[in-house]
Amino acid sequence: MNNLKNNRSRISLKAYGIEHDNFHYQLPPKELHRISLEKGMGEVASSGALAIKTGEFTGRSPKDRFIVKDEVTKDRVWWGDINIPFEADKFDALYKKVIAYLNSKELYVRDCYACADHNYRMDIRVINEYPWSNMFAYNMFIRPTEEELRNFDPEWTVINAPGFMANSEVDGTRQHNFAILNFTQKIALIGGTGYTGEIKKGIFSALNFILPVEKNTLPMHCSANVGAKGDTAIFFGLSGTGKTTLSTDASRKLIGDDEHGWNNENAVFNFEGGCYAKVINLSEENEPEIYGAIKKGAILENVVMDAHGRVDFSDTSITQNTRVSYPIYHIENVQRPSIGKNPKNIFFLTADAFGVLPPISKLTPSQAAYHFISGYTAKVAGTEAGVVEPIPSFSACFGAPFMPLHPAKYAEMLSKKMQEAKVNVWLVNTGWTGGPYGVGTRMKLKYTRAMINAVLNGDLGLYNYDDYHIHSVFGVAQPRECPGVPTSVLSPRATWNDDQAYYTTAFKLTNAFRENFKKFESYASEEIRRGGPQRYAF
Ligand code: ATP
Ligand code: MN
Repeated sequence: MNNLKNNRSRISLKAYGIEHDNFHYQLPPKELHRISLEKGMGEVASSGALAIKTGEFTGRSPKDRFIVKDEVTKDRVWWGDINIPFEADKFDALYKKVIAYLNSKELYVRDCYACADHNYRMDIRVINEYPWSNMFAYNMFIRPTEEELRNFDPEWTVINAPGFMANSEVDGTRQHNFAILNFTQKIALIGGTGYTGEIKKGIFSALNFILPVEKNTLPMHCSANVGAKGDTAIFFGLSGTGKTTLSTDASRKLIGDDEHGWNNENAVFNFEGGCYAKVINLSEENEPEIYGAIKKGAILENVVMDAHGRVDFSDTSITQNTRVSYPIYHIENVQRPSIGKNPKNIFFLTADAFGVLPPISKLTPSQAAYHFISGYTAKVAGTEAGVVEPIPSFSACFGAPFMPLHPAKYAEMLSKKMQEAKVNVWLVNTGWTGGPYGVGTRMKLKYTRAMINAVLNGDLGLYNYDDYHIHSVFGVAQPRECPGVPTSVLSPRATWNDDQAYYTTAFKLTNAFRENFKKFESYASEEIRRGGPQRYAF
């Protein structure tokens, strides 16, 4: 049995206003797993993983994410409905209430860090009301060695009180839940929601402010892996476009599945120490590495199981956003430490539910900048009968909800780094083929993997123009052949069997691009603007 008493007395929480020492410090995951079961907060799946329910919230709540507006942030943050300001006084008052609440609870405390590159390392203390949330922090952040723990000085603190409900009228929140970043006090204060993703995305958002402002380093919402020859690839994309799925590939070493920095020493480094995969419709056949990572130590969220603990991954009755978190060492083929050289290839993943973007195409530098600022993917409408119209969704830098600065700042840094490193940029449609959502089908994962591997193995050639067709609407270069992929799949128009419907839908999408880009027009150079679609419906 781990020496709890000793462990507990190693730190004090008085500086936070927590007076008691009824807290567990640095419990190993198997203890947190056991305590969660003991408290009736979870069940064991047949795989050995802990299965928990996050409660009212099964996803992030972007409308309840605030940033304290103060000396540090007021002139730097891009304020608006993504980065919503919160008054410093209101923060202090709410903080006191949350701490008073936590003073009556048994707590779980963990010291860990973000950024595999130690020049950028951020030491973090996570204080949780629930044992499984603390186990999530073990899985997702980087685990310090005993040695590193000895001189541990937390720079940022995450205070996570899912059971605390704010009173919006007095507390200044929108409703009972909130996630507030305070850059002066270096605190992420989360309450009223048990969704674990808020914990990791809180720290991600903090790094997305700190790294460019203080360290001239580019933070990215992307996954990354590295090939046998040391060639790094990174994959940008919004939620559900395939960052985790495609970076987890047995033939390449995984660097990380969601958050990375690109420093000035020609390296890409993971912020995290674990992965957080979607498990909707997960199968061992299609995604063996992720499937195999679901074992003791992993936490399944909001899945439905039978009496034997067997998970039905097709059951979305709790949420479509079923998840599993696991420490990165649950994946066999990983890069240690989680750092790779400058990327050779960058993939922009988009799940185009209009089914009009090519499954893979090469972008010019202007197109790369344009698509990065646009950050397009599509949301599919609900599953009600007859509702089949996809909704375009644009999120700057493929991660606007986590980017406190103006998108142009990240875009400028990326463009510069891409030029210096001479990377090739590819747009990959992991969404629909053969027609829009409701008519066509989702691109086969097997084909997407084959296209990506063809790029990474150098089989797609680089700019032998005869091998490419320039798309008449989007202007991107579409390869004519790709090993492992039927030629007919490479041309979206050909998969539709209805040219007129194809172009009508393609113009719907280009018009949406144009509409969205208006807010960036004054920041974008002529060169970037040229990277947009070539034709619009008038
Ligand atoms: P998040 O930012 O929320 O973590 P993500 O970009 O990591 O999202 P994934 O977890 O990889 O997204 O989700 C992609 C989902 O789409 C998976 O459930 C995967 O099985 C499914 N999928 C189906 N077809 C494809 C395809 N052709 N390419 C990639 N993913 C596909
Ligand atoms: Mn992911």
